Amino acid sequence: MSRNPERHFPTDYRSARAAFLQACTAAGLGTIARVHPKARGRDGKPLFLDTATIGPRDATSALLLISGTHGVEGYFGSGVQTGLLREGLVRRVSNAAKVVMLHALNPHGFSWDRRVDEENADINRNFVDHANPPRNPAYEALADAIAPKDISPETLNAANAKLLAYSQAHGLTALQEAISKGQYAHQDGLYFGGKRKSWSVAMLEAVLRQELATVKKLIVIDLHTGLGAPGEGEMISEDPPHSAPYERAKTIWGARVKSSAAGESVSVRLTGTIDRAFAAWMKGRELTFAALEVGTRSTLDVFLALRRDNWLHRIAGARHPLAAAITREIRTAFYPNTAAWKRKAWAAADETVTAALAALG
Ligand SMILES: [Zn+2]
Repeated sequence: MSRNPERHFPTDYRSARAAFLQACTAAGLGTIARVHPKARGRDGKPLFLDTATIGPRDATSALLLISGTHGVEGYFGSGVQTGLLREGLVRRVSNAAKVVMLHALNPHGFSWDRRVDEENADINRNFVDHANPPRNPAYEALADAIAPKDISPETLNAANAKLLAYSQAHGLTALQEAISKGQYAHQDGLYFGGKRKSWSVAMLEAVLRQELATVKKLIVIDLHTGLGAPGEGEMISEDPPHSAPYERAKTIWGARVKSSAAGESVSVRLTGTIDRAFAAWMKGRELTFAALEVGTRSTLDVFLALRRDNWLHRIAGARHPLAAAITREIRTAFYPNTAAWKRKAWAAADETVTAALAALG
């Protein structure tokens, strides 16, 4: 059991990256930096997706640990990766397997304290056929209420009344699905899956090609925050109960595993996820994928923070007087900055990684 794991958690993207690279160097690992071709961080500097690999190049079984798919959720994921390295992860990997750490899949969102990338795309909704994306008619019917163009009390009251009416007619899960399952028609809305393949998804493909090509058995843990009770960790599987990947996940992680396909999970069914991307890329090979989702605040608080963040970046701009308060709000919604939360979140991550290492053999 780690003492004071909260010390591993970063204060911003730049220091997170520095700490991760330093922990890699101290552990004797080389790293590969993939620089974003155009986006810049809040500090005006370039942004990177960094990877480090433990174990032999030609290993046939691997664990892939991803942080920052949803930018601002990277405080947690990066802290976990750096902490694991500092606490001797290298010594815990068997000679036959490898562990690939992918740091800050969406570095722009991490640096700007946003869930989305520089094109307002949700990376975990981006893996679709962009010529023929899925439709989300419920989102379209509620678009103005989900992401209003102004945040005056009158507009928000009307918007909330519309969402409440929808929830009363169709149920709360239907509302959560309308909002968060992914939409491809409102480029400046919430949970927008993008108009084209994002840089992050292209880089994921590159990592798979360049660092996981020999792998026949892959376990992926994608580190997320925002859904569930504070500090509780759920392993979200998109595979239905009784399917082979779901049963493998259950064997590894036990009661933490919940299937979003079966409605067991804190998450509804989603479209265009990287879970499905890996399933397509790994066809014919053994894949066990789960998103470790650690709860932060209530679903309503998280939604309200996302809505204000959307308004800030879409309408008001980063120089608006409310910018600092909204940025603080969104960061807190995905990263409660308390020692108690960090210790619980760390314990969930450490447990799930330990179980995955054991399953690799
Ligand atoms: Zn997430």
